Amino acid sequence: MEQTFIMIKPDGVQRGLIGEVIGRFEKKGFYLKAMKLVNVEKSFAEKHYADLSSKPFFAGLVEYIVSGPVVAMVWEGKSVVATGRKIVGATNPLAAEPGTIRGDFAVDIGRNVIHGSDSVENARKEIALWFPEGLAEWQSNQHSWIYEA
Ligand code: UDP
Ligand code: MG
Repeated sequence: MEQTFIMIKPDGVQRGLIGEVIGRFEKKGFYLKAMKLVNVEKSFAEKHYADLSSKPFFAGLVEYIVSGPVVAMVWEGKSVVATGRKIVGATNPLAAEPGTIRGDFAVDIGRNVIHGSDSVENARKEIALWFPEGLAEWQSNQHSWIYEA
């Protein structure tokens, strides 16, 4: 099964949205495979967002990510990368549909509460960067009530 990297950004932590975010992924039928609350260094945030280093908003983005603790998570499930992006919503919260996390809880693009991997390949890289220690091993005993096969 597929895995994705989801991060609650410092604004999401400060605003008390941790439980809300976890609840949405959990109730959907995805499995939490790793989670930690951490403050990251500037150099680590720059590495996570390396693909955006030439963008004009890069410095502000890095400053935002290091401004407080983030919740880093790995979620597992069928098509969890693409479906996770739908649960997260569009990058600009004003364009994000109601019912998505950004659509329901955010206004500005630079305070959009949550990160989700945009491809299976980037998910693999982000999980390796954030969880070099590896993931938890477990199987939900509700699995066959969520997945037909
Ligand atoms: N971002 C920003 N200004 C922009 C575009 C992006 O501050 O004009 C921030 C925003 O927090 C976004 C992050 O940079 O979530 C990463 O940008 P990306 O295009 O990868 O969006 P995402 O994959 O998070 O939807
Ligand atoms: Mg992105």
